[in-house]
Amino acid sequence: MSISPLMPVYPRCGFRPVRGEHCHLIGEDGRRYLDFASGIAVNLLGHSHEGLISAIQQQAATLMHVSNLYGSPQQERVAERLVAATFADTVFFTNSGAEAVECAIKTARAYHQHVGNLDKYELITFKEAFHGRTLGTISASNQEKMHKGFLPLLPGFKYVDFGDLEGVKAAMGPNTAGFLIEPIQGEGGIRVPSDAFLQALRQLADDNDLMLIFDEVQTGVARTGTMYAYEQFGVIPDIVATAKGLGGGFPLGACLATEKAARGMVAGAHGSTYGGNPLAMAAANAVLDAVANEEFLAHVNDIGAKLVGRLEQFIGNYPEMFDSVRGRGLLLGLKLKIEPRPFVAHMRDNHQLLTVSAGDQTVRILPPLVIDESHIDEFMDKLSAAAASYSVPEVA
Ligand SMILES: *Cc1c(COP(=O)(O)O)cnc(C)c1O
Repeated sequence: MSISPLMPVYPRCGFRPVRGEHCHLIGEDGRRYLDFASGIAVNLLGHSHEGLISAIQQQAATLMHVSNLYGSPQQERVAERLVAATFADTVFFTNSGAEAVECAIKTARAYHQHVGNLDKYELITFKEAFHGRTLGTISASNQEKMHKGFLPLLPGFKYVDFGDLEGVKAAMGPNTAGFLIEPIQGEGGIRVPSDAFLQALRQLADDNDLMLIFDEVQTGVARTGTMYAYEQFGVIPDIVATAKGLGGGFPLGACLATEKAARGMVAGAHGSTYGGNPLAMAAANAVLDAVANEEFLAHVNDIGAKLVGRLEQFIGNYPEMFDSVRGRGLLLGLKLKIEPRPFVAHMRDNHQLLTVSAGDQTVRILPPLVIDESHIDEFMDKLSAAAASYSVPEVA
């Protein structure tokens, strides 16, 4: 037998973290890495946040899981807090981002079936999007590398270029149920659309009774400097999928919806065994305690602007390597003129700096939201050492 006990679907690197200390990870060999990846935009309070740890410890000792057969004071509290902090009127809890997007897709379809628009089941989605790895969410993306081996896809999605309003109008038809879009594309390379584009989608949705779904799995929970990114575009969505940062490292997602959008989500329509269990809710409360306030959001904006300022000043030293800096808050992308993957590996293996590569020749810079200026200094030192010591590998 040659297959490993761990199914070999991830091309894992050699770094094997065993402990986290605030904004650093420590490997099996004792080496210390600056973590500007945050488990892909998840660990927004860093790795050893006392409030989060003690909330999980206390809840684990009190009640971990009961299923959704029973009343849930724990879920009610987090749902009330999310409703108070957002556009939403109602919340469904999941265990992951893909499940939150699945719930969003089902909510949109169910809305139309509930109000009698039986033909409206198709969502217009955007090229290079990432919505997760379930059959439904890979079908919502045009990325063939995620489709390979898993055909046939789920019907009901049409792909349009990100930002192409005319393309959206041309794709609309009698089956269109709505739009599913990341308000800033994450895996696609931190691509920020214009305010006008997202506002035009809102207008098209209003004019045609369609659902506007924002996949905020990566952009949500203070990552961009507001609780959710939609706030920055002057657009109120009907449905939002959120996850990643929501549990601060504990697996947790949610589908947020307006009362109107959730019309079809009636008793028995949807479910999850684990979704919203008391342990996950304790994590969410601790995260919301830390981030859902003006002071914290101001910190994200302030420290994000400082990091962008330092990066923009720096990249001019290496015009042959770096193109531009983009993003909002601490959801940042460094667009390169060279291949990002080998450079990300070089920063990691030779300078103990963790980042994440993305599409569109971009390196994602996703620090914990609790960084201070000392972490920016450390990051810039490592990045400049990495740039100075890098020789672009020859392509075979
Ligand atoms: C990460 C991500 C997902 C999928 O989340 P999982 O928890 O891996 O299922 C969906 N949408 C976006 C925008 C993401 O960044």
